[in-house]
Amino acid sequence: MPAMTPSLAEPTAEPAMNLPTRSWSQVPPATFWMALKRGFRRHCPRCGRGALFKGYLTVNEECPSCGLVMEPYRSDDVPAYFSILLVGHIVVPGLLALEKFAHPAEWVQLAIWLPVTLFGTLALLPFIKGAVIGAIWRSKQDKPAA
Ligand SMILES: [Zn+2]
Repeated sequence: MPAMTPSLAEPTAEPAMNLPTRSWSQVPPATFWMALKRGFRRHCPRCGRGALFKGYLTVNEECPSCGLVMEPYRSDDVPAYFSILLVGHIVVPGLLALEKFAHPAEWVQLAIWLPVTLFGTLALLPFIKGAVIGAIWRSKQDKPAA
């Protein structure tokens, strides 16, 4: 039988994960930045272990590790807004700088910046959606239970 050694993969996991007698309501909630970072890594904002998504953008119904129900933490179109905002701050200055210094043909600009916009947005979207869900989860921890 192999010796039980602590996992080195999750250095930020709370020791409370190993205490089955404590419920999550007794564990101090993660800070805003912890929840944001866990979500950005596409992990559950409460425990930081379970996968947040079961597909590209489909949120798990509940965390496979701690059982947090994800349904109340809907991010709607906020991740798309922030993704477009970030990619736009890369594409627009890049396009303008290329135009000013190299003045390429229009088709060259389109061939460069349309794929950068499309794939940059699609690549960022799951990370930003996770971070937004983490922020929403953390913001609801301060409100008293209804
Ligand atoms: Zn969890």
